[in-house]
Amino acid sequence: MDLSYGPEYEDFRSDLRVFLEKHKHKSPLAGMGMRGHPGPFERDWQALLIENGYTCRTIPKKYGGYGAEPDILKTVIIQEEFTSANVNSGLSGQGIGMLVPTLLERGNDDQREKYIRRTITGELYWCQGYSEPGAGSDLASLRTSAKVEDGHFIINGQKIWTSSAHFSDMCFILVRTEPDKPKHEGISYLLMDMKTPGIEVRPLVTMTGAAEFNEMFLTDVKVPVDSIVGERGEGWHVANTTLKHERGMLGDPALLLGRVESIIKILQHEKLNGRPLMEHASYLDRLVAAQAKTEALKFHALRLLSQTLNNEEPGLNRFIIKFYGTELARELSDIALEALGELGTLYDGSPHLRAHGSWQVRNMFDLGLIIGGGTSQIQKNIISERGLGMPREPKLAKAN
Ligand SMILES: Cc1cc2nc3c(=O)[nH]c(=O)nc-3n(C[C@H](O)[C@H](O)[C@H](O)COP(=O)(O)OP(=O)(O)OC[C@H]3O[C@@H](n4cnc5c(N)ncnc54)[C@H](O)[C@@H]3O)c2cc1C
Repeated sequence: MDLSYGPEYEDFRSDLRVFLEKHKHKSPLAGMGMRGHPGPFERDWQALLIENGYTCRTIPKKYGGYGAEPDILKTVIIQEEFTSANVNSGLSGQGIGMLVPTLLERGNDDQREKYIRRTITGELYWCQGYSEPGAGSDLASLRTSAKVEDGHFIINGQKIWTSSAHFSDMCFILVRTEPDKPKHEGISYLLMDMKTPGIEVRPLVTMTGAAEFNEMFLTDVKVPVDSIVGERGEGWHVANTTLKHERGMLGDPALLLGRVESIIKILQHEKLNGRPLMEHASYLDRLVAAQAKTEALKFHALRLLSQTLNNEEPGLNRFIIKFYGTELARELSDIALEALGELGTLYDGSPHLRAHGSWQVRNMFDLGLIIGGGTSQIQKNIISERGLGMPREPKLAKAN
């Protein structure tokens, strides 16, 4: 089996390394996630990456992207090189990662014109209004309603866990428009301006100490009828396009390989009883076990890559990446924190921080990623029932 990418790709990799060496001093910090609306610093970096084809690579030029033909191997090389150089790989978030691909696949021309360029440049920041207090894993039970009146949907209900809603400009939201239809057929997918009257956002503080997600209360919120993506009642299918992209974003093996490299450096640098941790069997054991799992995930991702290159439907493989990748991310950040000892308990501006406290924040945030985008239990159910042919989980009896 030949696992090398070939000369054209190695040239691409060399050019990228030259670019990173030349420009990395302009990069915002890598790996800290989005904690506020992108500012001029982040947006300038994003513009430079788009101009050189290192982000938004396949988004058509007419929508502000680089306009390259899809080439998954180049995408993988970009992820690998940015991660190993610890350089910020551009703006992230649900707008760029989930909404833009969904509009390209299912939006209309007006929606693409209106939103894609402004989203990828960081002018518009988006949140995802799916989960509700009674609808998380069982998302299709959502109850937030939207009725049509005078050319508008009138939305009433409540969303929860809405990441970044407190600084978002727009929200892609799921609402029930056809209450009489079976639950999966009664949902619509709308694009909602967060400045519309009737939206109240209440931040929820997580254990990182920051408010990363929110409750969102909606009272008679008026959204124009042309804000719908797809047709009325098709929202479940549109949402699944979006979720497919979210699962791709979470548990990325290239990021995890970068983490393994960083942990090796920590184990070489930090000492216990005067000797580098790398020389202590207990740390070495854990490192090697986690490294082996990361390599296994990398080869699994290569299988997915081959399927994509051969135009085959990857099926359950995406669920495996989400499940295994997010669990492994947490295992890796556990090793890093323990290796940092007492320094591993500090974050948020302490003068003794290593790597800007990013391991500490990641470790807490990693738990959330195991839940968000579909919990590990749900991924396991899907993999075992659809992939391994195991018996379906018993459903709760319906109340009379
Ligand atoms: C960091 C983070 C960010 C998020 N961001 C967003 C966002 O931006 N927008 C948004 O809409 N949502 C967001 N969410 C919500 C997320 O999608 C839900 O939390 C998730 O789908 C689980 O739903 P729930 O919290 O209602 O838990 P529940 O569905 O109530 O599940 C509770 C527990 O029961 C288990 N469980 C449920 N059903 C089954 C089953 N059939 N079999 C076995 N176990 C089961 C679950 O695994 C879980 O452990 C975010 C969540 C987190 C943690």
